Amino acid sequence: MVIKKFKLSFFIVCILSLIMFLAGGCSLLSDKSTQTTGGFTQGSMSVHFIDVGQADSILIQSGEETMLIDGGNNADGEAVVSYLKKQGVKELTYIIGTHPHEDHIGGLDEVINEFSVGKIFLTDFVLPNVSFERLLLAIREKDLQILNPVPGDEYSLGSGKFTFIAPVGKDYGNKVNNYSLGIKLENGTNVFLLTGDAEIESEKDMVESGIDLEADVMKLNHHGSTTSNSEAFIEAVDPIYAVITVGTDNPYGHPSSSIVTRLLDEDIQIYRTDLMGAVVITSDGTNLTFQTEKKAGEKSVRDETVVNETEEVTKPTAESSEEIKVYITETGHKYHNVDCSYLKKAPDEIDLMEALERGYEPCSRCNPPQ
Ligand SMILES: [Zn+2]
Ligand SMILES: [Zn+2]
Repeated sequence: MVIKKFKLSFFIVCILSLIMFLAGGCSLLSDKSTQTTGGFTQGSMSVHFIDVGQADSILIQSGEETMLIDGGNNADGEAVVSYLKKQGVKELTYIIGTHPHEDHIGGLDEVINEFSVGKIFLTDFVLPNVSFERLLLAIREKDLQILNPVPGDEYSLGSGKFTFIAPVGKDYGNKVNNYSLGIKLENGTNVFLLTGDAEIESEKDMVESGIDLEADVMKLNHHGSTTSNSEAFIEAVDPIYAVITVGTDNPYGHPSSSIVTRLLDEDIQIYRTDLMGAVVITSDGTNLTFQTEKKAGEKSVRDETVVNETEEVTKPTAESSEEIKVYITETGHKYHNVDCSYLKKAPDEIDLMEALERGYEPCSRCNPPQ
């Protein structure tokens, strides 16, 4: 297939003329755009990494305002809509379609059909495909105006704000992922970095642009692929937590084990939607609270962990270290509890004593006995 880059507006005019001809008229809905909050006030913001398998869909709620970044695959549209309804979403202040791949924009048409939408942001790169055409049709039917943001554009969102930081470059050839819209989301002192499927070239441009990329939470780019998540980028972001939006047994081998190992070596805590279901992080402006739909490796158990950035979770007390089993991986230097999210599928079980003798250190995520 030949992929061409041309101005979005031109493409829209063409496709919309056709749609108008076929549909013979369109409904007109009012634009429920945002109200500015006039500076930061201590308030809560929740960031939901919805489990849509090998795809992205992120819901952000703060006060009365709501944003959805991507909507999963075509088949996920209904699930995303029902997740949003469960969270009490009535309207979306903003929608971001990071880039025109199905696993990001596929379900957005159903979301747009279902909710009232304020502003919709799309990247200025067009990849003609069925998902994209369905999205444009839904946008047109609601008479929404597409915005193509550029780095530096800033919008308020409840008690916080978000700033577009990518794509910095104008021409990445046919590498669609590099055109991903990326944002830095801030609530008080808490910072989230959400940059879609940006690959190494776009990451490099973000680093070189001089923007302060430092964040508490980083969504790994492109589902944890090695074509993204370069050392230089992760060093610049310097996250405490990483979220990987990825499907179980996906055919791409995402997330890459080398990336996961690198994060663990840097003591970055990992939350994965394939192992934990939906990951919900709530910011009160200073502290982050983590909720996952299930514990890694378990079904239908709700886990809630409060993490204060200066304090660690309470450590479980050890009984007799000879009898206590802990778990290690082939490459790690830490030992873990059996349900630690850092562990891969088949960890080795050893005695706590042996782990200590062999120089393993306790994992800071699961706080195993010492
Ligand atoms: Zn992509
Ligand atoms: Zn993707």
